[in-house]
Amino acid sequence: MNDSKLGNVGNNACDYFSLAQPSVQALHPYLPGKPIEELQRELGLSNIIKLASNENPLGLSEKVIQAIQSALKEGARYPDGNGYVLKQALLDFYARKNQVFDLNQLTLGNGSNDVLELIARAFVGSSDEVIFSEYAFAVYSIVTQAVGAKAVEVPAKDWGHDLVAISQSLTSKTKLIFLANPNNPTGTAFSNSDFISFMDAVPSNVLVVLDEAYGEYIKEDTFPDGLSLLANYPNLIISRTFSKAWGLASMRVGYAISSPVIADLLNRVRQPFNVNLFALVGAAAVLNDSDYLEKGVGLNSKGLKQLEDGLGALGLSFIPSKGNFIAFNVYPESANNKKAYTGMDIYQLLLQEGVIVRPLVNYKMPDFLRVSIGLPEENQRFLSSLESVIKSLN
Ligand SMILES: *Cc1c(COP(=O)(O)O)cnc(C)c1O
Repeated sequence: MNDSKLGNVGNNACDYFSLAQPSVQALHPYLPGKPIEELQRELGLSNIIKLASNENPLGLSEKVIQAIQSALKEGARYPDGNGYVLKQALLDFYARKNQVFDLNQLTLGNGSNDVLELIARAFVGSSDEVIFSEYAFAVYSIVTQAVGAKAVEVPAKDWGHDLVAISQSLTSKTKLIFLANPNNPTGTAFSNSDFISFMDAVPSNVLVVLDEAYGEYIKEDTFPDGLSLLANYPNLIISRTFSKAWGLASMRVGYAISSPVIADLLNRVRQPFNVNLFALVGAAAVLNDSDYLEKGVGLNSKGLKQLEDGLGALGLSFIPSKGNFIAFNVYPESANNKKAYTGMDIYQLLLQEGVIVRPLVNYKMPDFLRVSIGLPEENQRFLSSLESVIKSLN
């Protein structure tokens, strides 16, 4: 027995680790991006830039700051457990784009990760199977294992979801399929027509979660817009977040849009006050700040181009991305000392330069790093640091 797993109370020692559900014992915890303060403490550096968690480089919208400031005086009270004001703001926001649905189709979450977990807890049992793609967002496997279900990982195609292979992996035990479009960390996206063929192939008693955390960054209508397909596919659950394009990552707020019966079930397992007051008012406020969204999306497409050009100039290949981040291979195509170092080594060397990116070892992509699109000067600083780090090794 491992000593660190012993809980000692007087003479009674117990291996509490072994008390946990086997699927929980086998869980690999989510590895978040390194916080700026942590690197500051470790290296005593100032002027650190974080391009590790796909946050919005613009910072909070002014409208959010004002809304939260005026809500502060209500902070001693519980928030509205039904999140009425935010739900109504969401209906209004989508109605302006002619996308109409009902209040009772919404489930609010403490981040969309919360929503993903609610879905697993409401629907998935230990004899069920949950399907997702190789290289898919890590939270899918965590919430699947946390409820003791069998995770079925389908090999990726060109780093992206192979929807045909996924539909061929269905068994009588399949309860749920998680899809991310665009996917994190690869940035890949599938087309609307491929998605419709996929939905037509999936029986209606299998739930499909379409995670559109980066949906706001996609402008082309050749990609699916989950909401517009909901009426045709009642087994579809759309998940969206305020953490990325809306710039509210620290607030923790996301939502699902689904059929009313699914929303009712998700709301039954939800914690009564899972979204706090400041998240509720901040999210409602930013939905009225279309300038903020537009500015961020515009900045993102320019920054993506800047990074693609910069990586290309360093001879590094990357996976074309539809999100606000890009995964790149750390070995220059011309390098003759291939495999002399790993993505993790480059990550560590970039930390020394005060630049935080994301290693992808836990996605089984050890040769890759993921960098979030920052402000133009942050992108430039990342590229310069990367250039000197790579040059020092080749
Ligand atoms: C960032 C991200 C989320 C959002 O997580 P929140 O809990 O809403 O902050 C969801 N799905 C994917 C694929 C992501 O990359």
